[in-house]
Amino acid sequence: MPLVPPSAPRQRLALHWQILIGMAAGLVVGLLVNAFQGPLADLAASSALAASVMDFLAKANQFVGDLFLRGLRFIAVPIVLFSLVVGSSSLNDLKKLSRIGGRTIIIYLLTTSLAITVGLVLANITRPGTWLSPELRDHLATAAADTVSDKLQAAAAPDVWATLLNMVPQNPFAALAQGNMLQVVFLALAIGAALTLVPKEKAEFVIKVADGLTDAIIKLVGAIMLTAPVAVFCLIAGVMATMGIQVLSALLVYSLTVIGGLLIMTLGVYPLLLKVFSGVGPRRFFEAILPAQLLAFSSSSSSATLPVTMECVEGRMGVGEDVTSFVIPLGATINMDGTALYQGVAALFIAQLYGIPLDLGAQLTIVLTATLASVGTAGVPGVGLIMLVIVLQAVGIGDEAMKGGIAIIFGVDRLLDMCRTTTNVTGDAMVATVIAAREGDLLTAQAVADRRAERQAVGMDENP
Ligand code: ASP
Repeated sequence: MPLVPPSAPRQRLALHWQILIGMAAGLVVGLLVNAFQGPLADLAASSALAASVMDFLAKANQFVGDLFLRGLRFIAVPIVLFSLVVGSSSLNDLKKLSRIGGRTIIIYLLTTSLAITVGLVLANITRPGTWLSPELRDHLATAAADTVSDKLQAAAAPDVWATLLNMVPQNPFAALAQGNMLQVVFLALAIGAALTLVPKEKAEFVIKVADGLTDAIIKLVGAIMLTAPVAVFCLIAGVMATMGIQVLSALLVYSLTVIGGLLIMTLGVYPLLLKVFSGVGPRRFFEAILPAQLLAFSSSSSSATLPVTMECVEGRMGVGEDVTSFVIPLGATINMDGTALYQGVAALFIAQLYGIPLDLGAQLTIVLTATLASVGTAGVPGVGLIMLVIVLQAVGIGDEAMKGGIAIIFGVDRLLDMCRTTTNVTGDAMVATVIAAREGDLLTAQAVADRRAERQAVGMDENP
């Protein structure tokens, strides 16, 4: 007799569990490869066959991870464009959007300054820069000096006027082609607004097309997410296999300070703000956005995670489409609480390491410049470290300490990038939920469950 009656629906493990399993397996395999780096290299050197097998495995691993991220990036521009055109194409929605716009930017800036303050308070308590001897400091600084020196050329202080001006694309097709998200948001809002001014029959047709395309793209997100467990395995295994574990132990206090601050924000401050301003409890929130968090952690990229964050916030959390399609893309571009917190701790760490005193005034400068630097940080891996230069320059940290300091923290940057990107994405989702609740645009948990059940019944539920 079969154990499961033939009529029982096939139970599939929830996607976030599948991703978690992929992640854990990636962690174990990656760390094993890391530990056996020496013997494996010897083996590869000993036979041409072993060398090519290992080369093939490494390349295949990278290929799968990169393919997955490409799939998500491929979706990010059209989903923002089409869903925001739909969201902004009625006069009512336009009024609502301008109100939402103001509130969103203010909350984003406030939470970012709060995050840096948390980081600075922690770094003043743990004093991570005092745990490293000057000899070890100089050794680590010279070891990584070459790797970071070219990267540092790229950083330039974001000019607020230029950033504002840059939101208006000179050529909307170039904005789409280059994936400049703020310009795409501007384009979508402009088209949505203009659609309210043309005759209804014409506007309706365009809106229907954009709406249909949004639904089609959401299907693609669902399909890509089905491959997430395997892709996440590859991404994590790749990172762990090449991570400098030895450097991690030298920078343990610094790394734990950053991670502690990120945990305080993600598991303490956000749930508190969420409860106070939207009435939503932490369990419902985290259950809804877990797939986006796991993906942010695995990819270290808020912009690659963007389509999934939108789907989690809208499909699983119940935030309305126009709030989601405005607040989340904007957040993935300018709201980086985790990055800002990390920059605050890193600046203090480097100053302590080189014996440069930073008084209260200098620490307030850090709050201001790290807020700006995080706004200017692109949502891709490793950029937060480059933008740190701006913060260090603002508080007068000299060239030698800056280059040495950045070279030192470079060794653990990927791990911290994974953690800070998770906070960045969580912050965006929290703000979207609060804004939606204030606008009366947030479904109840029951309504979300009913909608998912309805979709499942017609075989439509491919949400992450
Ligand atoms: N990787 C981060 C993000 O995508 C940015 C950074 O801090 O480097 O959100």
